[in-house]
Amino acid sequence: MAKKPPRKDKPTDRGSRKAPAPGTPKTNERIPQSGTEPDTGPSEPVIKASSEGPAETLETGPAEPAGGPKPTGASQPAGGGKLPAMAPDSKPAASPAGDRARATGAAPGKLPSPADITPAKPEPMASEPTPPKAEASAAAKDTSTAAGKPPATPMPAVTARPTEATTAPAATAAGTPKAPLPEGHAPPATTGATGEVTGAEPAIAPPTEQPTPVRPPAAEIEVEQLEPPSTVETAATEEPPPVVHHLPSIFIVHITPEMAPVAKVGGLADVVFGLTRELAIRGNHVEIIMPKYDNMRYDHIWGLTPAYNDLWVPWYEGAIHCSVYFGFVHERKCFFIEPHSQDNFFKRGSIYGFNDDVLRYAFFARAALEFLWKAGKHPDIIHCHDWQTALVPVYLYEIYQHLGMTHPRVCLTIHNFKHQGVTGGELLRATGLHHPERFFDYHRLRDNHNTHALNILKGGIVYSNFVATVSPRYAFETKDQGQGFGLEPTLHTHHMKYGGVVNGIDYDAWNPEVDTHIPVHYSVDTIDGKYDNKRALRHRLMLADNEKPIVAFIGRLDPQKGLDLVRHAIFYSLERGAQFVLLGSSPDQGINADFWGLKRMLNDSPDCHLEIGFDEDLAHLIYAGADMMLVPSRFEPCGLTQLIAMRYGTIPVVRSVGGLADTVFDKDHSHRALHERNGYVFENYDQTGLESALGRAIACYFNHPEHFRELMKNAMRYDYSWNIPGQDYLNIYHYTRNR
Ligand code: ADP
Repeated sequence: MAKKPPRKDKPTDRGSRKAPAPGTPKTNERIPQSGTEPDTGPSEPVIKASSEGPAETLETGPAEPAGGPKPTGASQPAGGGKLPAMAPDSKPAASPAGDRARATGAAPGKLPSPADITPAKPEPMASEPTPPKAEASAAAKDTSTAAGKPPATPMPAVTARPTEATTAPAATAAGTPKAPLPEGHAPPATTGATGEVTGAEPAIAPPTEQPTPVRPPAAEIEVEQLEPPSTVETAATEEPPPVVHHLPSIFIVHITPEMAPVAKVGGLADVVFGLTRELAIRGNHVEIIMPKYDNMRYDHIWGLTPAYNDLWVPWYEGAIHCSVYFGFVHERKCFFIEPHSQDNFFKRGSIYGFNDDVLRYAFFARAALEFLWKAGKHPDIIHCHDWQTALVPVYLYEIYQHLGMTHPRVCLTIHNFKHQGVTGGELLRATGLHHPERFFDYHRLRDNHNTHALNILKGGIVYSNFVATVSPRYAFETKDQGQGFGLEPTLHTHHMKYGGVVNGIDYDAWNPEVDTHIPVHYSVDTIDGKYDNKRALRHRLMLADNEKPIVAFIGRLDPQKGLDLVRHAIFYSLERGAQFVLLGSSPDQGINADFWGLKRMLNDSPDCHLEIGFDEDLAHLIYAGADMMLVPSRFEPCGLTQLIAMRYGTIPVVRSVGGLADTVFDKDHSHRALHERNGYVFENYDQTGLESALGRAIACYFNHPEHFRELMKNAMRYDYSWNIPGQDYLNIYHYTRNR
């Protein structure tokens, strides 16, 4: 960790303010329990704290501080009480322990499967969909309330385009050594439990010509104006979410560009890490295929051994030789694909950010399928993630099913619509898909706006059996609220197989009771331990030890995260008598430079520390030591930081968007029962909105510490583990298999 440079102007300040080492007797540490506090804001609703049940509102002061208005938003209070869901699909269910949005999907209609081969002529999906069993029961339970429905809006115009919309550079292709396409392909194989690949030649010969397109994607249909999503009142007293018992064990392969902790850029890595473990715990056979990056955390891979040495992956007119390694990542079975070519696709020192990213991942997706086929693996489900692996279903149905891979069904999870892999026709030549007349079709891969471009993520949506995104609210926003970065019409067309599942967090990695990164362990019953961590955090960052709350931000320094509001929040927090800690970094050096400038400007403040970089260890300490976690995103598909923060009793202060709206319920304005409220929420993306929520949070901390403490306990009691989303995904898998 970079240490705070000495403060030149106030050299004596440092010594006098230096926090004592963790574990030393508390001096002036503020523990919000009771007592008088500085009057820093308007009065809060007075809540009778109870050690047992929910707090009760006794009297209500002004709901908003002078600094900002009440969260706005028609009948929908900020984040409160009612979860929007896609009609008729997204049906959140709730339970005291797991009040979260459920796996959704519009009542699913006929999905692509090898049996569904029809002529390419577009035809509407006419049949009335039948929900999968679990969802049907959830749907039956839900009650829509017209009052909370977002207004029906016509399909919005697209306002933004993918930033990485690059055309694949021909130069890269030229640099690829073209080994001849191997005759007959490599020896066939099966994989043992430890990953070694053995076996006999597959009976099916590789294609000598492009297969006849016998299995077109689902036809584009006239875009219909859907019902706006209904809002569903859920209460903690409702039945727990539907659980499908006695599901047979299945074979699931995740194909992914990232997995924590070995190759992590953002939340996608955490999702793959947590979900795969949950699926395995439930008795399924789970394997993971990812690139073998040179900059992986190899110290987290056990028993890395070659598993398949002679994988030749078709590429342009030839093929690239690859090795496949097997290893365990914290008990997860992982295959790592290493191509041997001058392109050095995955030996770049970092994961993303290269001009040929589209080709790098188009290759990886092809290599993953080639490996499955050569290894004789026939998973029941192939689960792909984001545009980087969205070509997998395209390859499967356009190439590999004709080689005999007709068994797998494909689920694609889209973690962020901003990145879509938009590229030129070079992609078709590189991958062997060829047939521009077929793939530059609006109903297949043609980009919805640029008729000369292919859109890989769109292809994934069209060809997958089920498309999930990471929260029901984000599913709605992407389809109906203009957040789909141009893919709104495609989502409408395929709405029958589209829905949202809120991510979980890995309760082994994120658990204040056992977290090895923090000095003092604590739980909801020993919550005072949190304040030893607060002292440790201050000590580590050389912040003053005083009675102030610590407001924190952890995240990628990306405009998506609301960086201008983060900047405003730093000054606002200091002004309102709080401390501020930021941990973040950006691949964009301009953004990093801005935050470095801010850091220098605030260098002398004993109440502020900005850490520009990626630091897993420090992140844990911040989650444990901060009082509030700010997530003011412009858009947020799911968001893990607020979930992790709640697990550590750190109160989220969030904008009501995407998964934040599905998981954080405002202390003052939510329609939820008091014991379900877990944070502060604002609606409008502006400084006033931010201040309305952050001001109330800081005021509550100072003026009503007992309420703040109740809020912390509420947050810690929620179940945001993978338990529920794991079941949701299994329901999806079994649904797609049974179609
Ligand atoms: P996104 O996927 O958009 O980056 P999420 O909230 O879904 O955002 O996930 C972010 C994850 O990355 C969280 O686990 C968060 O703690 C972690 N993270 C983000 N930035 C940093 C950083 N600079 N140092 C350590 N962890 C970070």
